[in-house]
Amino acid sequence: MSEKFDAIVVGAGVAGLAAAYTMSKAGLKVIVIEKGQHPGSKNVMGGVLYSHMMAEIIPDFWKDAPLERPIIEQNLWIMGKESVVKTGYKDMEWSKAPYNNFTVFRGKFDQWFAKKCVEVGTLIVNETVVKECIMENNKVIGVRTDRPDGDILADVVVLADGVNSLLGKSLGFHKEWRKDQVALCVMEELKMPSDKIEERFNLDKGMGATIEIFGDTTLGMVGTAFIYTNKDHISIGCGALLSQMYEKRVEPYELLEYIKNHPMVKPLIAGSQPCEYYAHLIPEGGYKSIPKLVDDGVIVIGDAAQFVNGIHREGSNMGMTSGRFAAETIIRAKGTSDFTKSTLSNYEDLIKESYITKDLKKYKNASSTMENNGAYFNHYMPALNKSVSEMLTVDGESKSKKQKLIVKHMTKGRSMFTAALDIFKMLKEVK
Ligand SMILES: Cc1cc2nc3c(=O)[nH]c(=O)nc-3n(C[C@H](O)[C@H](O)[C@H](O)COP(=O)(O)OP(=O)(O)OC[C@H]3O[C@@H](n4cnc5c(N)ncnc54)[C@H](O)[C@@H]3O)c2cc1C
Repeated sequence: MSEKFDAIVVGAGVAGLAAAYTMSKAGLKVIVIEKGQHPGSKNVMGGVLYSHMMAEIIPDFWKDAPLERPIIEQNLWIMGKESVVKTGYKDMEWSKAPYNNFTVFRGKFDQWFAKKCVEVGTLIVNETVVKECIMENNKVIGVRTDRPDGDILADVVVLADGVNSLLGKSLGFHKEWRKDQVALCVMEELKMPSDKIEERFNLDKGMGATIEIFGDTTLGMVGTAFIYTNKDHISIGCGALLSQMYEKRVEPYELLEYIKNHPMVKPLIAGSQPCEYYAHLIPEGGYKSIPKLVDDGVIVIGDAAQFVNGIHREGSNMGMTSGRFAAETIIRAKGTSDFTKSTLSNYEDLIKESYITKDLKKYKNASSTMENNGAYFNHYMPALNKSVSEMLTVDGESKSKKQKLIVKHMTKGRSMFTAALDIFKMLKEVK
Protein backbone atom coordinates (compact mmCIF):
# COMPACT_ATOMS: atom_id res chain seq x y z
CA MET A 1 0.00 0.00 0.00
CA SER A 2 1.78 3.20 -1.08
CA GLU A 3 -0.99 5.58 0.00
CA LYS A 4 -0.09 8.01 2.79
CA PHE A 5 -2.43 8.61 5.74
CA ASP A 6 -2.68 11.41 8.28
CA ALA A 7 -2.59 8.80 11.03
CA ILE A 8 -2.12 5.07 11.44
CA VAL A 9 -3.64 3.57 14.58
CA VAL A 10 -2.20 0.19 15.60
CA GLY A 11 -4.83 -1.80 17.52
CA ALA A 12 -8.62 -1.65 17.40
CA GLY A 13 -9.29 -1.74 21.15
CA VAL A 14 -11.27 1.01 22.84
CA ALA A 15 -8.22 3.32 22.96
CA GLY A 16 -7.37 2.95 19.27
CA LEU A 17 -10.99 3.25 18.16
CA ALA A 18 -11.51 6.38 20.31
CA ALA A 19 -8.49 7.98 18.62
CA ALA A 20 -9.56 6.88 15.13
CA TYR A 21 -13.17 8.05 15.55
CA THR A 22 -12.15 11.49 16.83
CA MET A 23 -9.62 12.05 14.05
CA SER A 24 -11.85 10.76 11.24
CA LYS A 25 -14.75 12.88 12.46
CA ALA A 26 -12.49 15.93 12.17
CA GLY A 27 -11.78 14.98 8.53
CA LEU A 28 -8.37 13.31 8.90
CA LYS A 29 -7.47 10.32 6.77
CA VAL A 30 -7.07 7.46 9.25
CA ILE A 31 -6.30 3.75 9.01
CA VAL A 32 -6.63 1.28 11.91
CA ILE A 33 -4.65 -1.95 11.72
CA GLU A 34 -5.86 -4.82 13.88
CA LYS A 35 -4.29 -8.25 14.15
CA GLY A 36 -7.50 -9.98 15.25
CA GLN A 37 -10.22 -11.35 12.95
CA HIS A 38 -12.31 -8.31 13.85
CA PRO A 39 -12.15 -5.50 16.45
CA GLY A 40 -12.89 -7.03 19.83
CA SER A 41 -11.90 -10.57 18.87
CA LYS A 42 -8.66 -10.25 20.89
CA ASN A 43 -9.98 -7.96 23.62
CA VAL A 44 -10.80 -9.08 27.12
CA MET A 45 -12.58 -7.07 29.79
CA GLY A 46 -14.82 -7.93 32.74
CA GLY A 47 -16.26 -5.61 31.61
CA VAL A 48 -17.57 -2.39 32.98
CA LEU A 49 -17.52 0.45 30.44
CA TYR A 50 -17.74 4.02 31.68
CA SER A 51 -20.45 6.18 30.09
CA HIS A 52 -18.91 9.57 30.74
CA MET A 53 -15.73 8.88 28.75
CA MET A 54 -17.58 7.10 25.95
CA ALA A 55 -20.12 9.94 25.67
CA GLU A 56 -17.25 12.41 25.29
CA ILE A 57 -16.51 10.59 22.03
CA ILE A 58 -20.00 9.54 20.85
CA PRO A 59 -22.73 11.38 22.80
CA ASP A 60 -25.84 9.26 23.36
CA PHE A 61 -23.90 6.11 22.39
CA TRP A 62 -26.21 4.08 24.64
CA LYS A 63 -29.08 4.58 22.20
CA ASP A 64 -27.67 2.01 19.80
CA ALA A 65 -24.52 0.45 21.26
CA PRO A 66 -24.65 -3.27 22.20
CA LEU A 67 -24.70 -2.87 25.99
CA GLU A 68 -25.54 -5.55 28.51
CA ARG A 69 -26.90 -3.88 31.67
CA PRO A 70 -26.63 -0.41 33.23
CA ILE A 71 -24.94 -0.90 36.61
CA ILE A 72 -27.07 0.43 39.44
CA GLU A 73 -25.39 -1.38 42.30
CA GLN A 74 -21.70 -1.75 43.10
CA ASN A 75 -20.53 -4.02 45.89
CA LEU A 76 -17.25 -4.61 47.66
CA TRP A 77 -16.68 -7.89 49.44
CA ILE A 78 -13.82 -8.74 51.81
CA MET A 79 -13.83 -12.49 51.85
CA GLY A 80 -12.73 -14.94 54.51
CA LYS A 81 -12.51 -18.70 53.99
CA GLU A 82 -16.17 -19.27 54.81
CA SER A 83 -17.39 -15.73 55.43
CA VAL A 84 -17.63 -12.33 53.85
CA VAL A 85 -17.83 -8.70 54.99
CA LYS A 86 -19.98 -6.82 52.49
CA THR A 87 -20.45 -3.21 51.62
CA GLY A 88 -22.07 -1.59 48.61
CA TYR A 89 -24.01 1.23 47.04
CA LYS A 90 -27.16 1.21 44.95
CA ASP A 91 -28.51 4.23 43.09
CA MET A 92 -31.65 4.34 40.93
CA GLU A 93 -30.30 7.50 39.24
CA TRP A 94 -27.83 5.18 37.52
CA SER A 95 -30.73 3.41 35.80
CA LYS A 96 -31.43 6.54 33.72
CA ALA A 97 -29.55 8.45 31.00
CA PRO A 98 -26.77 9.56 31.05
CA TYR A 99 -26.08 6.43 33.17
CA ASN A 100 -22.91 5.77 35.17
CA ASN A 101 -21.56 2.65 33.55
CA PHE A 102 -22.61 -0.49 31.69
CA THR A 103 -21.45 -4.05 31.41
CA VAL A 104 -20.40 -4.90 27.86
CA PHE A 105 -18.95 -7.78 25.89
CA ARG A 106 -15.92 -6.35 24.16
CA GLY A 107 -16.35 -8.77 21.24
CA LYS A 108 -19.65 -7.07 20.40
CA PHE A 109 -18.94 -3.56 21.67
CA ASP A 110 -15.65 -3.06 19.80
CA GLN A 111 -17.27 -4.24 16.54
CA TRP A 112 -20.00 -1.65 16.98
CA PHE A 113 -17.44 1.05 17.83
CA ALA A 114 -15.41 0.10 14.74
CA LYS A 115 -18.57 0.39 12.60
CA LYS A 116 -19.06 3.91 13.96
CA CYS A 117 -15.45 4.72 12.97
CA VAL A 118 -16.08 3.42 9.44
CA GLU A 119 -19.21 5.61 9.23
CA VAL A 120 -17.07 8.72 9.81
CA GLY A 121 -14.45 7.60 7.30
CA THR A 122 -11.88 5.37 9.09
CA LEU A 123 -10.39 2.54 7.10
CA ILE A 124 -10.12 -0.59 9.26
CA VAL A 125 -7.88 -3.45 8.19
CA ASN A 126 -8.22 -6.67 10.21
CA GLU A 127 -6.06 -9.81 10.38
CA THR A 128 -2.92 -7.76 9.86
CA VAL A 129 0.01 -7.60 12.27
CA VAL A 130 2.18 -4.52 12.51
CA LYS A 131 5.70 -5.91 12.75
CA GLU A 132 7.60 -2.66 13.31
CA CYS A 133 7.57 1.09 12.91
CA ILE A 134 9.31 2.51 9.85
CA MET A 135 11.92 5.11 10.78
CA GLU A 136 13.49 7.89 8.77
CA ASN A 137 16.00 10.27 10.36
CA ASN A 138 14.95 9.03 13.82
CA LYS A 139 11.32 9.88 13.11
CA VAL A 140 8.48 7.35 12.85
CA ILE A 141 7.01 7.69 9.35
CA GLY A 142 4.85 4.58 9.07
CA VAL A 143 4.52 0.89 9.85
CA ARG A 144 5.61 -2.40 8.31
CA THR A 145 2.87 -5.05 8.36
CA ASP A 146 2.96 -8.80 7.73
CA ARG A 147 1.16 -8.37 4.39
CA PRO A 148 2.95 -8.43 1.03
CA ASP A 149 3.65 -4.80 0.09
CA GLY A 150 2.63 -4.11 3.64
CA ASP A 151 4.38 -0.79 4.34
CA ILE A 152 2.01 2.06 5.20
CA LEU A 153 3.07 5.66 5.68
CA ALA A 154 1.54 8.41 7.80
CA ASP A 155 2.35 11.68 9.54
CA VAL A 156 1.73 10.06 12.92
CA VAL A 157 1.52 6.49 14.22
CA VAL A 158 -0.66 5.94 17.29
CA LEU A 159 0.40 2.90 19.30
CA ALA A 160 -2.77 1.40 20.80
CA ASP A 161 -1.39 -2.13 20.76
CA GLY A 162 -2.35 -3.06 24.31
CA VAL A 163 -0.55 -4.20 27.43
CA ASN A 164 2.51 -5.88 25.87
CA SER A 165 3.07 -3.05 23.35
CA LEU A 166 5.86 -4.81 21.52
CA LEU A 167 6.04 -1.78 19.24
CA GLY A 168 6.61 0.62 22.14
CA LYS A 169 9.26 -1.77 23.42
CA SER A 170 10.99 -1.97 20.03
CA LEU A 171 11.16 1.86 19.96
CA GLY A 172 12.82 1.76 23.40
CA PHE A 173 9.83 3.46 25.10
CA HIS A 174 9.75 0.77 27.77
CA LYS A 175 11.60 -2.40 28.72
CA GLU A 176 10.02 -5.85 28.99
CA TRP A 177 7.45 -5.41 31.81
CA ARG A 178 8.57 -6.95 35.09
CA LYS A 179 6.27 -9.61 36.57
CA ASP A 180 5.14 -7.17 39.26
CA GLN A 181 4.08 -4.61 36.63
CA VAL A 182 1.33 -6.81 35.21
CA ALA A 183 -1.51 -8.91 36.62
CA LEU A 184 -2.60 -12.15 35.03
CA CYS A 185 -6.40 -12.28 34.81
CA VAL A 186 -8.71 -15.09 33.90
CA MET A 187 -12.45 -14.93 33.46
CA GLU A 188 -15.40 -16.96 32.35
CA GLU A 189 -18.78 -16.15 30.89
CA LEU A 190 -21.47 -18.21 32.57
CA LYS A 191 -24.82 -18.49 30.82
CA MET A 192 -27.88 -17.93 33.01
CA PRO A 193 -31.47 -16.83 32.17
CA SER A 194 -31.97 -13.09 32.69
CA ASP A 195 -34.83 -13.50 35.21
CA LYS A 196 -32.64 -15.79 37.31
CA ILE A 197 -29.86 -13.18 37.32
CA GLU A 198 -32.35 -10.53 38.47
CA GLU A 199 -33.71 -12.80 41.20
CA ARG A 200 -30.25 -13.78 42.52
CA PHE A 201 -28.83 -10.27 42.48
CA ASN A 202 -32.05 -8.57 43.64
CA LEU A 203 -32.32 -6.42 40.52
CA ASP A 204 -35.15 -4.81 38.58
CA LYS A 205 -35.60 -6.07 35.05
CA GLY A 206 -32.66 -5.15 32.83
CA MET A 207 -30.59 -3.58 35.63
CA GLY A 208 -27.12 -4.74 36.64
CA ALA A 209 -24.78 -5.13 39.60
CA THR A 210 -21.08 -5.60 40.18
CA ILE A 211 -19.17 -7.29 42.97
CA GLU A 212 -15.46 -6.65 43.50
CA ILE A 213 -13.91 -9.18 45.85
CA PHE A 214 -10.75 -8.94 47.93
CA GLY A 215 -9.37 -11.44 50.40
CA ASP A 216 -9.53 -15.19 50.40
CA THR A 217 -10.35 -15.43 46.68
CA THR A 218 -6.80 -14.71 45.58
CA LEU A 219 -5.23 -17.17 48.03
CA GLY A 220 -3.27 -14.42 49.78
CA MET A 221 -1.88 -12.92 46.54
CA VAL A 222 -2.27 -9.21 45.67
CA GLY A 223 -5.28 -9.19 43.38
CA THR A 224 -9.04 -9.16 43.11
CA ALA A 225 -11.92 -11.19 41.84
CA PHE A 226 -15.12 -9.91 40.28
CA ILE A 227 -18.66 -10.91 39.41
CA TYR A 228 -20.60 -8.80 36.89
CA THR A 229 -24.10 -9.25 35.57
CA ASN A 230 -24.77 -9.20 31.83
CA LYS A 231 -28.13 -9.70 30.07
CA ASP A 232 -28.10 -13.48 30.27
CA HIS A 233 -24.55 -14.19 31.34
CA ILE A 234 -22.51 -13.67 34.47
CA SER A 235 -18.88 -12.65 34.09
CA ILE A 236 -16.70 -14.08 36.81
CA GLY A 237 -12.98 -13.58 36.96
CA CYS A 238 -9.91 -12.93 39.02
CA GLY A 239 -6.42 -11.69 38.70
CA ALA A 240 -3.24 -11.39 40.71
CA LEU A 241 0.20 -9.96 40.16
CA LEU A 242 2.08 -12.23 37.76
CA SER A 243 5.09 -12.13 40.12
CA GLN A 244 3.03 -13.69 42.92
CA MET A 245 1.28 -16.24 40.73
CA TYR A 246 4.68 -17.31 39.47
CA GLU A 247 6.20 -17.40 42.95
CA LYS A 248 3.33 -19.42 44.42
CA ARG A 249 3.05 -21.63 41.33
CA VAL A 250 -0.69 -20.99 41.16
CA GLU A 251 -2.30 -21.81 37.82
CA PRO A 252 -4.90 -19.22 36.75
CA TYR A 253 -7.63 -21.81 36.16
CA GLU A 254 -7.07 -23.23 39.69
CA LEU A 255 -7.70 -19.80 41.15
CA LEU A 256 -10.90 -19.36 39.15
CA GLU A 257 -12.14 -22.82 40.18
CA TYR A 258 -11.41 -21.96 43.82
CA ILE A 259 -13.50 -18.80 43.56
CA LYS A 260 -16.38 -20.52 41.77
CA ASN A 261 -16.51 -23.06 44.58
CA HIS A 262 -16.25 -20.55 47.41
CA PRO A 263 -19.38 -20.88 49.62
CA MET A 264 -20.17 -17.17 49.13
CA VAL A 265 -20.01 -17.42 45.34
CA LYS A 266 -21.25 -20.91 44.54
CA PRO A 267 -24.96 -20.25 45.17
CA LEU A 268 -24.87 -17.11 42.97
CA ILE A 269 -23.66 -19.03 39.94
CA ALA A 270 -25.29 -22.41 40.61
CA GLY A 271 -26.89 -23.94 37.52
CA SER A 272 -25.07 -21.62 35.08
CA GLN A 273 -23.28 -22.95 32.02
CA PRO A 274 -19.66 -21.95 31.29
CA CYS A 275 -19.43 -20.80 27.68
CA GLU A 276 -16.31 -18.68 27.22
CA TYR A 277 -12.93 -18.62 28.98
CA TYR A 278 -10.38 -15.83 28.61
CA ALA A 279 -6.93 -15.04 29.99
CA HIS A 280 -5.20 -11.70 29.57
CA LEU A 281 -2.63 -9.44 31.22
CA ILE A 282 -3.56 -6.14 32.85
CA PRO A 283 -1.01 -3.35 33.30
CA GLU A 284 -0.55 -2.85 37.04
CA GLY A 285 2.63 -0.80 37.15
CA GLY A 286 0.65 2.44 37.41
CA TYR A 287 2.24 5.88 37.61
CA LYS A 288 5.81 4.66 38.06
CA SER A 289 5.61 2.47 34.94
CA ILE A 290 4.20 4.98 32.46
CA PRO A 291 6.54 4.67 29.47
CA LYS A 292 7.73 7.41 27.15
CA LEU A 293 4.51 8.67 25.55
CA VAL A 294 5.58 10.66 22.49
CA ASP A 295 8.40 11.08 20.05
CA ASP A 296 8.73 12.44 16.54
CA GLY A 297 5.74 11.02 14.62
CA VAL A 298 4.47 8.66 17.34
CA ILE A 299 2.09 8.65 20.35
CA VAL A 300 1.30 5.83 22.85
CA ILE A 301 -2.20 5.39 24.36
CA GLY A 302 -4.31 3.05 26.50
CA ASP A 303 -2.91 -0.14 28.03
CA ALA A 304 0.24 0.33 25.94
CA ALA A 305 0.89 3.37 28.16
CA GLN A 306 0.04 1.42 31.38
CA PHE A 307 -3.08 3.56 31.86
CA VAL A 308 -4.99 1.30 34.27
CA ASN A 309 -6.18 2.09 37.79
CA GLY A 310 -6.36 -1.39 39.33
CA ILE A 311 -7.78 -0.16 42.65
CA HIS A 312 -10.89 1.20 40.90
CA ARG A 313 -10.91 -1.37 38.00
CA GLU A 314 -10.68 1.48 35.51
CA GLY A 315 -8.88 0.91 32.23
CA SER A 316 -11.34 1.28 29.37
CA ASN A 317 -12.09 4.87 30.42
CA MET A 318 -8.40 5.78 30.50
CA GLY A 319 -7.97 4.10 27.13
CA MET A 320 -10.78 6.16 25.60
CA THR A 321 -9.67 9.44 27.17
CA SER A 322 -6.04 8.96 26.12
CA GLY A 323 -7.20 8.04 22.59
CA ARG A 324 -9.26 11.23 22.41
CA PHE A 325 -6.35 13.34 23.74
CA ALA A 326 -3.99 11.81 21.16
CA ALA A 327 -6.51 12.55 18.39
CA GLU A 328 -7.02 16.15 19.51
CA THR A 329 -3.25 16.64 19.55
CA ILE A 330 -2.84 15.21 16.05
CA ILE A 331 -5.73 17.33 14.71
CA ARG A 332 -3.96 20.41 16.10
CA ALA A 333 -0.60 19.31 14.71
CA LYS A 334 -2.19 18.86 11.29
CA GLY A 335 -3.03 22.57 11.33
CA THR A 336 0.69 23.43 11.32
CA SER A 337 1.90 20.27 9.55
CA ASP A 338 4.31 19.79 12.43
CA PHE A 339 4.41 16.28 13.87
CA THR A 340 7.60 16.60 15.85
CA LYS A 341 7.94 15.51 19.46
CA SER A 342 7.66 19.10 20.65
CA THR A 343 4.23 19.57 19.01
CA LEU A 344 2.96 16.12 19.96
CA SER A 345 4.00 16.69 23.58
CA ASN A 346 0.72 18.57 23.90
CA TYR A 347 -0.68 15.04 24.41
CA GLU A 348 1.56 14.56 27.45
CA ASP A 349 0.32 17.86 28.87
CA LEU A 350 -3.32 16.79 28.42
CA ILE A 351 -2.59 13.47 30.13
CA LYS A 352 -0.77 15.22 33.00
CA GLU A 353 -3.63 17.63 33.64
CA SER A 354 -6.31 14.93 33.51
CA TYR A 355 -7.69 12.42 35.97
CA ILE A 356 -5.41 9.80 34.39
CA THR A 357 -2.16 11.14 35.85
CA LYS A 358 -3.84 12.44 39.00
CA ASP A 359 -5.41 9.07 39.82
CA LEU A 360 -2.39 6.96 38.87
CA LYS A 361 -0.17 9.23 40.97
CA LYS A 362 -2.53 9.01 43.94
CA TYR A 363 -2.27 5.20 43.99
CA LYS A 364 1.34 4.99 42.86
CA ASN A 365 2.50 2.93 45.87
CA ALA A 366 -0.66 0.92 46.53
CA SER A 367 0.32 -2.21 44.62
CA SER A 368 3.90 -2.36 45.97
CA THR A 369 2.73 -1.62 49.53
CA MET A 370 0.40 -4.63 49.32
CA GLU A 371 3.00 -6.82 47.60
CA ASN A 372 5.72 -6.00 50.12
CA ASN A 373 3.54 -6.75 53.11
CA GLY A 374 1.74 -10.06 52.77
CA ALA A 375 -0.16 -9.34 56.01
CA TYR A 376 -2.77 -7.22 54.20
CA PHE A 377 -4.18 -10.19 52.34
CA ASN A 378 -3.01 -13.01 54.65
CA HIS A 379 -3.74 -11.53 58.03
CA TYR A 380 -5.85 -8.34 58.08
CA MET A 381 -8.60 -9.45 55.70
CA PRO A 382 -9.22 -12.77 57.51
CA ALA A 383 -8.92 -10.90 60.83
CA LEU A 384 -11.57 -8.41 59.71
CA ASN A 385 -13.94 -11.30 59.01
CA LYS A 386 -13.16 -12.82 62.41
CA SER A 387 -13.73 -9.48 64.13
CA VAL A 388 -17.14 -8.95 62.54
CA SER A 389 -18.08 -12.51 63.41
CA GLU A 390 -16.97 -11.88 67.00
CA MET A 391 -19.14 -8.78 67.31
CA LEU A 392 -22.22 -10.38 65.73
CA THR A 393 -22.09 -13.71 67.53
CA VAL A 394 -24.37 -13.52 70.55
CA ASP A 395 -22.76 -15.87 73.05
CA GLY A 396 -23.08 -14.23 76.43
CA GLU A 397 -19.73 -12.36 76.24
CA SER A 398 -19.96 -8.64 76.95
CA LYS A 399 -19.43 -6.20 74.09
CA SER A 400 -16.40 -4.70 75.89
CA LYS A 401 -14.80 -8.14 76.05
CA LYS A 402 -15.59 -8.62 72.36
CA GLN A 403 -13.91 -5.32 71.50
CA LYS A 404 -10.78 -6.53 73.30
CA LEU A 405 -10.95 -9.81 71.34
CA ILE A 406 -11.21 -7.86 68.09
CA VAL A 407 -8.03 -5.96 68.92
CA LYS A 408 -6.44 -9.34 69.68
CA HIS A 409 -7.52 -10.75 66.28
CA MET A 410 -6.20 -7.71 64.43
CA THR A 411 -2.85 -7.64 66.25
CA LYS A 412 -2.27 -11.40 66.45
CA GLY A 413 1.43 -12.20 65.96
CA ARG A 414 2.44 -8.52 65.82
CA SER A 415 2.65 -5.53 68.13
CA MET A 416 -0.14 -3.00 68.41
CA PHE A 417 2.26 -0.45 66.92
CA THR A 418 3.00 -2.62 63.83
CA ALA A 419 -0.70 -3.23 63.23
CA ALA A 420 -1.52 0.47 63.57
CA LEU A 421 1.34 1.36 61.22
CA ASP A 422 0.25 -1.25 58.62
CA ILE A 423 -3.31 0.02 58.67
CA PHE A 424 -2.18 3.65 58.51
CA LYS A 425 0.10 2.87 55.52
CA MET A 426 -2.69 1.15 53.64
CA LEU A 427 -5.23 3.90 54.32
CA LYS A 428 -2.66 6.43 53.15
CA GLU A 429 -2.20 4.58 49.84
CA VAL A 430 -5.87 3.97 49.03
CA LYS A 431 -7.69 6.83 50.77
C1 LIG B 1 -10.05 -9.73 32.73
C2 LIG B 1 -10.06 -8.25 32.53
C3 LIG B 1 -11.09 -7.50 33.06
C4 LIG B 1 -11.11 -6.11 32.89
N1 LIG B 1 -12.18 -5.42 33.38
C5 LIG B 1 -12.27 -4.09 33.15
C6 LIG B 1 -13.43 -3.39 33.53
O1 LIG B 1 -14.38 -3.95 34.06
N2 LIG B 1 -13.48 -2.06 33.27
C7 LIG B 1 -12.45 -1.40 32.63
O2 LIG B 1 -12.56 -0.19 32.39
N3 LIG B 1 -11.33 -2.05 32.27
C8 LIG B 1 -11.22 -3.37 32.49
N4 LIG B 1 -10.12 -4.06 32.07
C9 LIG B 1 -9.03 -3.30 31.42
C10 LIG B 1 -9.41 -2.97 29.98
O3 LIG B 1 -9.79 -4.13 29.32
C11 LIG B 1 -8.25 -2.31 29.24
O4 LIG B 1 -7.74 -1.24 30.01
C12 LIG B 1 -8.67 -1.80 27.88
O5 LIG B 1 -9.12 -2.86 27.09
C13 LIG B 1 -7.51 -1.10 27.18
O6 LIG B 1 -7.84 -0.83 25.85
P1 LIG B 1 -6.70 -0.72 24.73
O7 LIG B 1 -7.42 -0.32 23.49
O8 LIG B 1 -5.59 0.11 25.23
O9 LIG B 1 -6.09 -2.18 24.59
P2 LIG B 1 -6.77 -3.54 24.04
O10 LIG B 1 -8.23 -3.52 24.30
O11 LIG B 1 -5.97 -4.63 24.63
O12 LIG B 1 -6.54 -3.45 22.48
C14 LIG B 1 -5.27 -3.62 21.88
C15 LIG B 1 -5.51 -4.09 20.46
O13 LIG B 1 -4.28 -4.05 19.72
C16 LIG B 1 -4.22 -5.18 18.88
N5 LIG B 1 -2.79 -5.38 18.56
C17 LIG B 1 -1.77 -5.60 19.44
N6 LIG B 1 -0.60 -5.66 18.79
C18 LIG B 1 -0.87 -5.48 17.49
C19 LIG B 1 -0.06 -5.45 16.33
N7 LIG B 1 1.28 -5.57 16.39
N8 LIG B 1 -0.66 -5.26 15.12
C20 LIG B 1 -2.00 -5.10 15.04
N9 LIG B 1 -2.83 -5.12 16.11
C21 LIG B 1 -2.26 -5.30 17.33
C22 LIG B 1 -4.85 -6.29 19.72
O14 LIG B 1 -5.28 -7.37 18.92
C23 LIG B 1 -6.00 -5.53 20.37
O15 LIG B 1 -7.17 -5.58 19.60
C24 LIG B 1 -10.06 -5.45 32.21
C25 LIG B 1 -9.01 -6.20 31.67
C26 LIG B 1 -8.99 -7.59 31.82
C27 LIG B 1 -7.88 -8.37 31.21
